[in-house]
Amino acid sequence: MPKQIPMMVTVAGVRRLTPRMARVTVAGDELRGFQYVGPDQLARLFLPNASGELTLPVTDSWWPEMCAMPEAVRPVLRNYTVRRLDPEAAELDLDFVLHGSGEHAGPGSSWAENAQVGDKIGVLSDGADYQPPPDTTWQLLIADESALPAVAAILDQAPTGQHIIALLEVTDETDELPLPTSPDITVRWIHRGTGPRNKPVLAALHELDLPEGTPYIWAAGESTLATTTRRHLVKQRGIPKDRIYFCGYWREAPS
Ligand SMILES: Cc1cc2nc3c(=O)[nH]c(=O)nc-3n(C[C@H](O)[C@H](O)[C@H](O)COP(=O)(O)OP(=O)(O)OC[C@H]3O[C@@H](n4cnc5c(N)ncnc54)[C@H](O)[C@@H]3O)c2cc1C
Repeated sequence: MPKQIPMMVTVAGVRRLTPRMARVTVAGDELRGFQYVGPDQLARLFLPNASGELTLPVTDSWWPEMCAMPEAVRPVLRNYTVRRLDPEAAELDLDFVLHGSGEHAGPGSSWAENAQVGDKIGVLSDGADYQPPPDTTWQLLIADESALPAVAAILDQAPTGQHIIALLEVTDETDELPLPTSPDITVRWIHRGTGPRNKPVLAALHELDLPEGTPYIWAAGESTLATTTRRHLVKQRGIPKDRIYFCGYWREAPS
């Protein structure tokens, strides 16, 4: 992907998808030139800093430019998924996990929780990693809430005739999102309740009968979820490493 420059966009809509997930629609003419490269596409967000100031880098060397900014000026950078891009309408949807308040919140979650129509942020188009090889005959998606936007976009664009199993860990049924259905798609929502994260979905993975054929596995969410999934599939199930994409989308703070 050619180097990109952050775009200034304006909040055009905010709504709760679930009690713990907010969809923020941003709009801006520059989004007509936003490069879309795949369903788990990363959007880098430049959010107002602690003083409410928003200063965007203005070149495609945005990272060194940002690092050179005085701390009082530098925007907050966070990673989110492009849930939907409508280049005609010059709109983009971003789905934010609202992960608590106080010490459990972060600038990304807090910004989304308080976002209002007219607020401004910066967005930068970045790469996508979901790339099933052409010989794939079945897919397995494993995710927590942070990767639900990517899973939803992957399922929106799912090929027909290929079995896709999704194991999705959330707190409870109120976190479940409507996802595309088809005879090829099997979605299993797994509830952690008040218990520790990752264990329920990893237990479901251990018990899962894997289909015959040639797999592609995509796992993202809390860091341990992603790394343990890969280790299990490689060591216990004999899946070649090159059939597995895994990514820690965030890291749980040690308790
Ligand atoms: C490629 C990619 C795509 C991503 N897409 C999305 C997306 O579409 N939607 C989305 O919500 N997230 C997404 N994430 C994850 C998101 O970047 C992180 O959750 C990020 O840490 C949120 O920033 P924050 O400012 O809210 O919290 P931070 O300031 O980073 O962290 C503050 C505290 O919150 C905790 N925390 C962070 N994230 C979570 C969480 N999800 N649940 C519970 N506790 C958390 C941290 O452990 C820390 O203790 C993506 C990450 C990557 C790498």
